[in-house]
Amino acid sequence: MNSKPIRVRFAPSPTGRMHLGSARTALYDYLLARRTGGTFILRIEDTDTKRTVPGSERELMAGLRWLGLDYDEGPDVGGSCGPYRQSERREIYQSHAWELVEKGAAFPCFCAAERLEKVRQERQKQKLNTGYDGFCRNLDPDEARRRAVNGERHVIRFMSPRAGVTNAVDLLRGPIVVPNEMIDDYVLLKSDGLPTYHLAAMVDDHLMGISHVIRGAEWLSTFPLHALIVRAFGWEEPVWMHLSVFLKPSGKGKMSKRDTALAMDSGYSIYIGDLEKLGYIPEGVLNWIALMGWGVSEDDVMTLAQMVERFDISHLNPAPAAINFSKLDHFSGTHIRLLPDEEIARRIKPYFIHAGLEVDNDTLLKIIPLIRERLVTLDDCLPFAAWFFKGTVEPKPEELIAKNLTAAQCAEIARKSYDILASLPEITLAQAEPAMRALVETLGLSAGQIFGILRVAITGQTVSPPLFESMEIVGKEKVLERVRGAMGMLEKMR
Ligand code: GLU
Repeated sequence: MNSKPIRVRFAPSPTGRMHLGSARTALYDYLLARRTGGTFILRIEDTDTKRTVPGSERELMAGLRWLGLDYDEGPDVGGSCGPYRQSERREIYQSHAWELVEKGAAFPCFCAAERLEKVRQERQKQKLNTGYDGFCRNLDPDEARRRAVNGERHVIRFMSPRAGVTNAVDLLRGPIVVPNEMIDDYVLLKSDGLPTYHLAAMVDDHLMGISHVIRGAEWLSTFPLHALIVRAFGWEEPVWMHLSVFLKPSGKGKMSKRDTALAMDSGYSIYIGDLEKLGYIPEGVLNWIALMGWGVSEDDVMTLAQMVERFDISHLNPAPAAINFSKLDHFSGTHIRLLPDEEIARRIKPYFIHAGLEVDNDTLLKIIPLIRERLVTLDDCLPFAAWFFKGTVEPKPEELIAKNLTAAQCAEIARKSYDILASLPEITLAQAEPAMRALVETLGLSAGQIFGILRVAITGQTVSPPLFESMEIVGKEKVLERVRGAMGMLEKMR
């Protein structure tokens, strides 16, 4: 272990959308930093200009903000180790690449792409590994430098040792031992002068004082190379951790494009921006993601603050984690229910407004207790409760007819209900429910039949929050008006 102050970085490439994997890395970075009083850094790794997708840096930052994973240093907040965008650190990588050349740990390579391709095919035929064949490894260093300085097109490659083995330690998986002949002479600096990940990330992790590198399992295969690069510079290694891979919901293999599309068809997504649009709450998303790789009990409900209190990197687990979307629903609903009414109201209000409804805050606050148990996502408020904010509702006439009854019978029930409700001083749960239950008794019908008619009459829909509580919120005047309206519709259907 090392003794440096804890500094961790989330280092996404702006090459696509922010997904569960990147969010989980960022979360664990954040938790480790906050747990230990360390520093959480955002670094944008944008040196692969061909793969850069415009707008993805913005989406990443918005995703972090939405999740509440605020960072202490980064491109938009500054810090003492900037710039935090790798495209702005070009000279730093160039001088470091040449430093490795000086040290005999890297070399300029002038091989043309055509030659490399020929070598690759040749070696493939001979069933050899298809890495670089070492053609420029033995050029005279002074001569090679002169050619490079004179502008001859070149890359700088790592001079991987040809004999022996490399040992590297992953905190979650233990020691990894690789024969050096398996480690290619990877390109560190490309012919356009931009670094590859292998160089840029190692240099930045050192210069930014990173103590723990938490990253995806896709970097495991080049991990020994990274350890060799750090050692070639003579730097202290960070603690390395490669997180578990995510598997598709069936647990059989990784998520493919098709699986991602299938998930979307069922109203789910692996993208953070989509989850926000689908109405999931960040607390639920974080809790769900946190448990995919953190060996606390599967159903532990934790807020971000509670996660900070409990986080321990030694509990991280490298076993692959299957994405389970029903767990996402579970955690989203659970975290919504943990919020106070006022906060739920604040968060669902935009959905009503977006649906073109005028929302009065008093009513909004009153309906929260009626719907809070039923919300899995915030936009579930619409099917349950949008009708509260509509001046009029439009029941489907056929839905006003209760099971096993005729339109005439239902019209009669509506009339009787109207009379009862009209006779009450106020329509409250306490007054209306016993009165209506008495009617159920008198008519010898089921509560479902009678209340069903009222529900459709008053809410315009067959599923709604509890009827009498809803009537109380809507108020006597509107209730009577709607029951009268339903009576009229039923009369016409006789
Ligand atoms: N830019 C790399 C990626 O997006 C970062 C890997 C790392 O954290 O070092 O995969």
